[in-house]
Amino acid sequence: MSEVPITADEATHEFGFHTRSVHAGQRPDPNTGARAVPIFQTTSYVFEDPESAAAYFNLQEYGNTYSRIMNPTVAAFEERVANLEGGVGAVAFASGLAAQAAAFVTMLCPGDHVIASSALYGGSITQLKHLFGKLSVELTFVDPDDIDNWRSAIAQNTKLLFGETIGNPGGNVLDIEALAGLAHEHDIVLMVDNTFATPYLCRPMEWGADIVVHSATKFIGGHGTSIGGVVVESGKFDWSNGRFSVVADPSPAYHGLPFHNTFGIYGYLMKLRAETLRDLGAALSPFNAFLFLQGLETLALRIDRHVDNTEAVAQYLAARPDVDRVRYAGLESSKYRKLKERYLPKGAGAVFCFDIQGGWRCGQEFIRNVTLWSHLANVGDAKSLIIHPESTTHRQLNVEELAAAGITPGTIRLSVGLEDVQDLIWDLERGFEAAARARE
Ligand SMILES: *Cc1c(COP(=O)(O)O)cnc(C)c1O
Repeated sequence: MSEVPITADEATHEFGFHTRSVHAGQRPDPNTGARAVPIFQTTSYVFEDPESAAAYFNLQEYGNTYSRIMNPTVAAFEERVANLEGGVGAVAFASGLAAQAAAFVTMLCPGDHVIASSALYGGSITQLKHLFGKLSVELTFVDPDDIDNWRSAIAQNTKLLFGETIGNPGGNVLDIEALAGLAHEHDIVLMVDNTFATPYLCRPMEWGADIVVHSATKFIGGHGTSIGGVVVESGKFDWSNGRFSVVADPSPAYHGLPFHNTFGIYGYLMKLRAETLRDLGAALSPFNAFLFLQGLETLALRIDRHVDNTEAVAQYLAARPDVDRVRYAGLESSKYRKLKERYLPKGAGAVFCFDIQGGWRCGQEFIRNVTLWSHLANVGDAKSLIIHPESTTHRQLNVEELAAAGITPGTIRLSVGLEDVQDLIWDLERGFEAAARARE
């Protein structure tokens, strides 16, 4: 791979977030001068000679071999996300859930124990409970708000704590620094799903998180067009601490290579790419990586606007008598206000839930009668989105899990987009009128 020259000035200057959102991980293409990141729509790469081909496959040199494992367009995306999150590197995947699964598989063995927040994305709960349950990974879900819940769940075989910066549907803000302290006291990993916050609002690694995962499908892509995910690592975790032999010991899946000893701070990421991505095969397409790079270029601008609109919509809802509660951490009245001020000073994101009076029926009527808000199962689009979690995204959960997740029959989830906020509120008004008719 061509080395990118960096001038001495550039190497010492600290670029701001907006500049890095636009430039990190890419320079004009040395062969063509193309300013935008080219879409390298190729499966494979011609080797210079047999020796370098062998060196690439031995991981003695880092070079492109096959696009299931690496691709220059995907690499630009990986480098940009790693830069924005403050990690040493990143590996992209075909979806957020693929990224998470790969991050878990790379560090966990049967019999290992994971402690996860009960306020996770529904698909993450299902993945951990059923897929990883089948692989004999033990699991404890805890109410994430009290550090003592996490502490008392730690057992001899615990390897990982996992939570979301901003949980759903409660808007729980994770006390990342406290959790990182707890994890490191026990030589275990803290992994944070930063999808709802994005690196613009919060960078969990600055508070001690070891691994950050994203569903790039959401705000990073930002336009509801592409599925993808990414894993970022801080490079600070000591995988040779005796508890992660699967990362540190010679790997039978890579002719005895000890990843952590060989690659140091890049060991976990190298194993994630050269083994897990190779074997699971959930590679991000170069085209989707291109769209995510475009998304990152405007991430900060979009998120500021998402947050402004969301604060206005949340305040409007909180003032209504037919709304039981609004669970947005950006509201003054939120029980997460202190944590929000600490971890999310620029805003609490654009996804939150509220509970409408009248339960399931009023919730459904509300959704049926709004039109500007699109009824669908996604978040983080430029367009405003609405859904009834109990009948859709959280349908797989049983009664206790729904209660633990804080979802009631009247819970409605919003993902606030970039439209004019007056229009969004105008449309919500129509939903409330329909819900009132249903109540009569
Ligand atoms: C959507 C989402 C995921 C899963 O990502 P996909 O790209 O849909 O696989 C994981 N975590 C959170 C918080 C999400 O919103």
